[in-house]
Parts: sequence; C-alpha cells; structure tokens
Amino acid sequence: MSDTPLSLLSRVFGYPEFRGDQAAIVDNLVAGNDALVLMPTGGGKSLCFQIPALLRDGCAVVVSPLIALMQDQVAALKEVGIAAEFLNSSLDGASAAQVEREFVAGKLKLLYVAPERLLTPRFQSLLEQAQVALFAIDEAHCVSQWGHDFRPEYLGLSALHERFPDIPRIALTATADTATRAEILTRLDLHDARVFVASFDRPNIRYHISEKTEPRRQLLDFLAGHTGEAGIVYCSTRKKVEETADALKQAGFTALAYHGGMDNDTRRRHQQKFLREDSVVMVATLAFGMGIDKPDVRFVAHMDLPRSVEGYYQETGRAGRDGEAAEAWMAWGLQDVVTQRRFIDENDADDAHKRSAHGKLDALVGLCEAASCRRVALLSYFGETSQACGNCDVCITPPTLWDGTEASQKLLSTVYRTGQRFGAGHVLDVLLGKKTEKVEKFGHADLSVFGIGASQTDKVWRAVLRQLVVRGLMEVDHAAYGALKLTAAARPVLKGEETVLLRAIEVRTKQRKSRLASSGGAGYHDDEDPLFIALRTWRRETANEKGIPAYVILHDATLREIAARKPATLAELGEISGLGAKKLEAYGEAVLAVVEEG
Ligand code: ADP
Ligand code: ZN
Repeated sequence: MSDTPLSLLSRVFGYPEFRGDQAAIVDNLVAGNDALVLMPTGGGKSLCFQIPALLRDGCAVVVSPLIALMQDQVAALKEVGIAAEFLNSSLDGASAAQVEREFVAGKLKLLYVAPERLLTPRFQSLLEQAQVALFAIDEAHCVSQWGHDFRPEYLGLSALHERFPDIPRIALTATADTATRAEILTRLDLHDARVFVASFDRPNIRYHISEKTEPRRQLLDFLAGHTGEAGIVYCSTRKKVEETADALKQAGFTALAYHGGMDNDTRRRHQQKFLREDSVVMVATLAFGMGIDKPDVRFVAHMDLPRSVEGYYQETGRAGRDGEAAEAWMAWGLQDVVTQRRFIDENDADDAHKRSAHGKLDALVGLCEAASCRRVALLSYFGETSQACGNCDVCITPPTLWDGTEASQKLLSTVYRTGQRFGAGHVLDVLLGKKTEKVEKFGHADLSVFGIGASQTDKVWRAVLRQLVVRGLMEVDHAAYGALKLTAAARPVLKGEETVLLRAIEVRTKQRKSRLASSGGAGYHDDEDPLFIALRTWRRETANEKGIPAYVILHDATLREIAARKPATLAELGEISGLGAKKLEAYGEAVLAVVEEG
C-alpha cells in the first residue's frame, strides 16, 4: 500500500489530522507546483514541505538562514526516523563531504543548507548530480530589502528557478504584510505560485499591555505566574538586558542575558541553554529570536515598546508555538515613544522613510491605547476582521474611561503658560504646585496655573500627559531638550469644544495562574501533576543523554495528554497525538514504565 499525506502524518509524525491549509499545500507541492505560504509562527509550516519531501522522489533542499537552528530541526527529523542532514559552516570538512556524498547518492530525504552555501558553484554542481524533490525557502521574507531581516544572499535564490525550472518550490514566511508578500513573489520569481494565506490569529496567546509605572516590579509580578517556565524578556538596550537578567537571577529565576555586545561564544552558549533546558528565561535585545523554533516558550515580555505592530507581532509570536496557552506581556511608557521618535528623526535617511517609521509607531501606540479588544486591533492591522477575543487584558478587565476634559485643559494650559519650553518634569511640578529651584528661578509660582492640579497625584498626571502626547494634542520637541509643545489638536479641547475620554490608570494586580485560569480564554494547566513532572524529568534525562533538546523527544502537550490518559499499553500510548511509530518504538516502553510508577 502506498503512502498518502495523511498516512505519513499519522505514522511518522503521530498527528491525527492536518491543520488549516496544510493538506492543500502538501497536495499542491506533491503535484509539482510552486507555492507561497504565509502562516503565523507555530502554524505548522514545516510539515508543508516535509511531507511532500517524503512523497516525492529525491531529496528536498531546504534553504534556511539560521545555521544554529538547522541542527535542532535535523535532530527532530532524525528522531522520527527521516534521513535528514544539514550543510553549514559548523561541520568539519570530512563530515560535510560525507553529507554531500549521501545527498548525491540519493540517501537523504531532506537537506538543510544556508543560502550562501547553496549558491556556491560547488553546491550547484551537487544539485546537478543529485535528484532534488523540491526546494523549500524558509523565512522567505529575508528577501525583502525593506524588512529587518534582509539577507542579500536570498536575492540570489531566484537563480534556482532558472536553473531548475521543473523542480517545485515552496517559499514560507510568518511575515504578514502585503508589501512583503509582493516582494517575495517578484524577487523569488514565483509568479505561478499558489498563495496560501492563513489567519494570523494566535488564539492561544493572551495579550496584555500595561503602562509602565514600576517596570521591574511589574515584570516580577507578571513572572510570578510563570515560574518554572521558559520565556523571553525583551529590553531595548544592552545595559537594561544585563540589569534585568541580574534582577531576575536574584529573584530566583534561571535567567540569561543575550545581546549584540556579548562575545559569540557566550551568546551561543546561552542560546543553547535556552533551547535545551525547560525553564530558562532569556533576557535579550531584539538581536535574539529570529528563527527560535522552541515550541514551549510560555511567555514573551516586552520591557520597552517595539518599533512597529509587525515587530510586536513577530516577537510575541515566539510564544506558544506548540499551541498551548502562552502570554505576551508588555509594559510601555511615554519615554519609549519619545526616544523612538527622536531615533527616527535622527537616523532615518529620507523623509519618506521617516514618515513611514512614525506611522508604524503610531499604529503600535494605537494598539497600546486601545480601549477595546487588542486582538481585534492587532488582526485588523493585518487586514483581518475578528470578534472580541476574551483572551486579552482589555477583554478580561475592560479599562475604566473617565472624562478627562478638565484635567486635559489644566495640563495643556500649564504647558502654554510656562511658554512651551519645558519638559514633563517641570510642567508637572508647576501643575502640582511644587516650589522647586526651577519654579523659583522662572517665577512660575506666580502663574495662575501653579498648583491647579494639586488634587491629583503625580501618577495620574503622568498618565494624562502620556495620553495627550500619544493622541497628538502635544508633542515632545527633542530639538528643544524634550520641551512639550501644543499642537493644533489642542485648541478645541482648550476652548471646551471637545471632550477627552481618558483611560484610568491600572490598579496593581498580581497575575497569578489561578486568576488567569478563572478568567476564561485558553486554559492554563495544572503543572503540579506529579505524573507530568515525572514524565518531564524522564524527558530531560533522556534528552541530556542524547544531547538534543527536550522538546525534540516529546512535546509538553504530548506529555500532558499521557499524564491525563495514563495509557497502559503501547497501543493506547500510540493513540496520543505527537507519538509516531518511530518514537513509540524508541520511547514507548520507557514512558509506560514512568506512567506505571507514577
Ligand atoms: P512554524 O514553522 O509555522 O512556526 P512548525 O512547523 O514549527 O511551525 O509547527 C509548530 C508546531 O505545531 C510543531 O510543534 C509541530 O509539530 C506542530 N504541528 C504542526 N502541524 C501539526 C498538525 N497537523 N497536528 C498537530 N501538530 C502539528
Ligand atoms: Zn480581546
């Protein structure tokens, strides 16, 4: 009996059914046609070319930009019994020659290569000699010259089509916007490709965006609900990365730092540890993360505002690839916006770029300020319409809005009366009626606005100020050392022609699992189950013995299902999702033994 996509999915990978467009994508490729696949992180892109690789004659050549991760992907394929190898600079000459021989001799089903190697004359000649089943171009957005991940070598990949016009190609990316999509189609010469666009919703990710008040404390509160889990904490600077990592270590977390200023060796070591161990918190700049395939990252925290909605989506998307509940948390503040605006003004070359960068930042700030479902706002940015999700902070605890018209007038007047020459600190001092040195020096205690805001706290005023700036009623002039200035939009408010609804500041709440669990949305798990813990221990030991990441052996979701169903026989175990024939053979008895003891 010959194999079908579904029989391979079940026998080799141990999954009962395809997800979303996977089946159609597989069929398209098996039939020899090109495809462009846009699917969110964790959507299941890999199977889209792995199964066709098994069904077509020859070996699939997979182009991937990150050599560090090829190793783990190949390890995962070998675990399920597929002949896979990679070729990159981490191999010594003899091992590389061995892989090349196996490739030409038709012994491999999948070969992962870095783009620069693929384009060498040596590899091109190997391609002539070998039988190639298909080309898969992973992280295809690297071809986009406008994107953050641009890789010049990707531009050379269009040559594949010229030299091997009959070999089907599949390009895959998790970057959603239409401009990038068009660029991929053109630059990779994929004009006849069928385009598959999946929904970009990641329902298992819970979004939570907070105003920054005491960032360190807020982070620790958030992490209190994630002890023993793997996650990423993003910070905007190297210094902050170091400091935050230290603070987390002191608080008892296994935290590691990762940023561009560290030597390669330490960076690699930290990345390995994060990938291989169960509960490492990686504190990192944005230098970390592209191509991080670790499926069980339970949270991504942003200590600073990213640059765009795309960036936010991509970074938060590293959480919960395995489809299990995960959290995306961010604390942001006015200073983030101000710093970024200055950065854009000072660094971006021409006006068109500047406008586009400011526009992207505006969209992200809009998401942060959203008074209705975050997911609806996020997806609408990518052109999708959806319903309020019930799994974001706004849906769970809708913000309280208050009529801030009078407060806004007071603040705007203070800025105006002090001459639009001062930054937030001094303006608030005047508003609150503080007799500082500066207030004395400029005679600001004599102004009619002096102390008109004394009935509210500094914290409340900061929230008002932030909201007025992000809504464009005031702007921060970096050329004048951060002086606040009114914009035309402030006039109708000052004249009483327009009301201003403001979000009330959040009351500090501890995020505990119990609270999350009771608030609906994707379910949180009882990780205290002794059998689950025993299975994890067994998995860690086995992974250490084999020198591969724990998740390559079995995923958390699979362990959890085993713990819940307590299978007594190999046949029962085999029904659990995530256990294919090869894994059943390799680990079945050992798992049953753990279940029996537990
Ligand atoms: P992507 O590359 O799109 O981020 P992956 O290919 O790494 O996603 O898949 C994400 C996770 O989903 C992996 O752990 C994979 O094993 C799992 N997965 C993919 N397809 C299926 C399926 N049809 N059924 C169950 N799990 C799947
Ligand atoms: Zn929501």
